Amino acid sequence: MSSLQPVRGTRDLIGDEQRRHRHVIDTARHVSGLYGFEEWSTPIFEETRVFSRTLGETSDVVTKEMYTFTDRGGDSVTLRPEGTAAVCRALVSNGLTQSLPQKVFYAGPMFRYERPQKGRYRQFHQIGLELIGPAEPLADAEVIACGWQILSDLGIAKSVVLELNTLGDMDSRTAYRAALVDYFTRFATELSEDSKARLERNPLRILDSKDEGDRRIVADAPTIAGHLTPLAAGFYDSLRNSLTALGIPFVENPRIVRGLDYYNHTAFEFVTTELGAQGTVMGGGRYDGLVKQMGGPETPAVGWAAGIERLAMLVTALQAEAAPIAVIPAGEEAEGAAFGVLQKLRQAGIRAEMSYRGNMRRRMERANKLGARAAVILGAEEAARGVVQLKDLVSGDQREVARDVLVAAIRALPSAGADA
Ligand code: ATP
Ligand code: MG
Repeated sequence: MSSLQPVRGTRDLIGDEQRRHRHVIDTARHVSGLYGFEEWSTPIFEETRVFSRTLGETSDVVTKEMYTFTDRGGDSVTLRPEGTAAVCRALVSNGLTQSLPQKVFYAGPMFRYERPQKGRYRQFHQIGLELIGPAEPLADAEVIACGWQILSDLGIAKSVVLELNTLGDMDSRTAYRAALVDYFTRFATELSEDSKARLERNPLRILDSKDEGDRRIVADAPTIAGHLTPLAAGFYDSLRNSLTALGIPFVENPRIVRGLDYYNHTAFEFVTTELGAQGTVMGGGRYDGLVKQMGGPETPAVGWAAGIERLAMLVTALQAEAAPIAVIPAGEEAEGAAFGVLQKLRQAGIRAEMSYRGNMRRRMERANKLGARAAVILGAEEAARGVVQLKDLVSGDQREVARDVLVAAIRALPSAGADA
C-alpha cells in the first residue's frame, strides 16, 4: 500500500495545533456562557434539504461546495457545511419554537468541497452563536459584543476590524434588487458565468463574488443605503448606537452581503489583514426567515460563525500548562511506593509524571526536560518512614516532607518564574 495521507483539504490536529484549537473553543465556551448561551450539538450530517433549500440555490456553498451523497438506504444526506441551518432544524425538531429565546453556542467540524489553501480546508471547524427569538437590535448588539469579547480574550481583537452592513427588510431588498439588476445588466456581457446566472435569480449574490472581473464591476454598484425603508434604517441606527455605547469599534462596509441567502437587516464580518486572502475570521447577521423555512413559525434570529483554524493561527500566546511535578524513585525497590505517590498527586489535581525506567540521574534529566516545577524523590528508606524528599527545581532547595502533607507542600511552592 502506498503511504497513507489524510484526504486533501483535511488535517490532523496534533501538539501545538490541537492546543490552539482547544484554546479557541474553551475561550468561546466560557465567554458565551457569561452571555447566557448554552451549548448544543447537532449531527454532522443532515437530510440534504436542510441545507439545499435554505442556504440559497445560487450560493457557492450549495452550487459547488456541499458533500452530498446517497446513503445505503437511498436517502440524500449532506455533511453539514455550516451550523445555523442545523440549529434551526433542531429548534423545530425538538419542539422548542415556543420556548424562546434560545441562546445557542456550538463548536464542531464543517465540510465544504473547496480548493484547499492556507486557512481554507475541506474539513474545518467553527464556533458559533445563535440567538433565536428576539427581533430587537439589542440582540444583534449582544451577539456581536459576545464575539468581540471572545476575540479580545483570545488576544486578537487588535488585529481584526468589525465591518458592518445592513441588508434591510423585505421592502428595502426589493427596491435595492431592482437597482442592482439595472446596474449589472449594463455589464451583463462582462460578468463571470456564475454572476450572469445570479443576475436574474439573486443579483445581491454578485456583490459577494470572488471573481476579479466581477469585483471591479461591483466596486461602483449602488449601495443599499438609498433604498432602506424608515423601519430598516431605524433598526440599523439603533444597532450602531448600541455598538458605539459599548465601545466596540466598527467600520461600515456596504459590500458585505455574506455567503448565504438567509440574512436580513444586520450583516457583519470580523476581518483581519494578517491571513492573506482568507481574512474573514467571524461572520454573521440576522436571519429572521430561516426558522419558518425549516417548517417552524415565523421566528426572528441573529448569530455568527467563526473559523477555528483562522482564529487559532492568530492566537499568539497560549497560556502555558502548569509545570508538572516529577516523581522519582531512588532505586527499584521504591518504584511501587513512588507510583502510589504519583497516583495520589494526580487524584489531588496536580499534574505529575514519572518515567518508566532509568537511574536517578537519568530520571532527573528527564524531569528537567519536562520543565518540572519540583521533584518528589523517595527511596525504600523514605517509603518505610512515610516521607519523601521534595526538591524545588527552581531554587534548588530540598527538604523532607511527610507524605500526608505533600499535596499542601506542593501547593505552597511559589509559582515558577513568579519572583524571577
Ligand atoms: P469565505 O468568504 O472565506 O469563503 P464564507 O463566507 O464562506 O467565508 P461563512 O460561511 O460565513 O464563510 O463561515 C464563517 C467562517 O468560517 C468564515 O469567516 C471562516 O472563518 C470560516 N470558514 C469558512 N469556510 C472555511 C474553510 N473552507 N476553511 C476554513 N475556514 C472556513
Ligand atoms: Mg466560502
